[in-house]
Amino acid sequence: MNQPLGKRRLLWRVYLYGVLMLLLSASASVAVGHYVLQPAYEVPARPSTTWIAWHIAAIQHEPERVRAELADLRQRVGIEVSLFEPAGRLVVSSASNPPPALTKPALEKLLRGGTAFQNGRGRVAVQDATGRLTNYVLIRYPEASPFGLALGQFAVALLVLTLLAIPLARSIALPVERLARLTRAFGRGNFAVRAGPQRRRDEIGDLARAFDEMADRLAALRRAELELLANVSHELRTPLSRIRLALELVRDGDTERVSEHLDDIGEELLELEQLIDDVMTTTRLDLAQTSGQEGLPPLHRERIPGYHVLEASASRFRKKHPERELRCAYREDLPELCVDPVLVRRALDNLIDNAAKFSEADTPVELGAAPTSSGLDITVADRGMGIGDEDKPRIFEPFYRADKSRARATGGVGLGLALAKRIVEAHGGSVDFTSERGTGSRFVVRLPRSG
Ligand code: ADP
Repeated sequence: MNQPLGKRRLLWRVYLYGVLMLLLSASASVAVGHYVLQPAYEVPARPSTTWIAWHIAAIQHEPERVRAELADLRQRVGIEVSLFEPAGRLVVSSASNPPPALTKPALEKLLRGGTAFQNGRGRVAVQDATGRLTNYVLIRYPEASPFGLALGQFAVALLVLTLLAIPLARSIALPVERLARLTRAFGRGNFAVRAGPQRRRDEIGDLARAFDEMADRLAALRRAELELLANVSHELRTPLSRIRLALELVRDGDTERVSEHLDDIGEELLELEQLIDDVMTTTRLDLAQTSGQEGLPPLHRERIPGYHVLEASASRFRKKHPERELRCAYREDLPELCVDPVLVRRALDNLIDNAAKFSEADTPVELGAAPTSSGLDITVADRGMGIGDEDKPRIFEPFYRADKSRARATGGVGLGLALAKRIVEAHGGSVDFTSERGTGSRFVVRLPRSG
């Protein structure tokens, strides 16, 4: 599912963290270049070049020596020196292209600081014991290699980026790895594993919550599957033992008692057939829904007037329960439906049978229908015992019976509503109900109109 942009916390976090990482590494690189690397190159130049300037000024009256030492300096360490008088006259210079004399404001500024060094150029004021300016020297010394500096700054940026990336990478990789481990364990059949409560409210937290929801649903399905198997086996037991008993009686030659049992066995077998049929239809409809293939098993859809569907159910009910009053409230001009008539009738029969089963014999059962904008609403209502609030969420589960002892007496194994719901949902409809203890229940089947 696509998340709205505002909710993509992880996306924004990674994005903003990335921008922050770049900003921090760029700042660190500039700061380290300015305050550490650049001074590291230049600082050693200051005292030595200042001393050189003073020395040259001191020996300026020995022209031969000055020239020799300046030439030596230039040749050995690449330092060019130009000595000026305060008025601006160039006394001596080893530069091939001597710099111009300082302007008055520049000279005043130099006097305030004594020396100034920047970008491979130095200015040194030479003063006598009284503080009077006797000379000034302009120096050019070999600059730090810009390539070396850039390399140093790049290394700093890279180091900061690498360190900052670690927490980000860990915060994404660790929970994903854990989820992968959980998924594998779940896949191997450990249905109890869960990611647990999540503090993270971003996509990774969502993923973990989605995993837990999926695991809960799958575990419930698995439980239902096992329960189904247990229930079906349980229901098979009684008729099978009756048949075994009858067989033993036949073997003993007690034909009189066998014929007593035969009717019971016949009835039990009928019920068994019904049960197997119900289980098969329920599981097939479930399969169709979970595998996402509509119409598995194929619904044998037919165009059929809604009125006919209701009438068929009503007449079956009257035959089966001649003693019960059935109040029909529907008109003949109900919309046409495109449904599997056998299955839809089965769903309606289950609902009407329940209405009769769970109400007193002297109360009426109501069957109504009304067209709606989307199709047809069929209502089955009774004035019976109703369904308790604690049972309401579960009555559509296969084999769920609200009142076990009574349900046993009333017959049925708890598949009627599960089947009805699946049939109606396979047709794109829905089943809802309202019920109150002691007052009665009302089930509404919503079927879509034929295409
Ligand atoms: P059953 O085979 O027991 O009828 P169903 O799936 O049809 O199974 O119904 C499940 C349970 O829901 C029933 O056992 C009963 O407790 C409750 N129930 C269904 N319909 C009604 C109703 N009309 N009135 C009261 N309880 C009902």
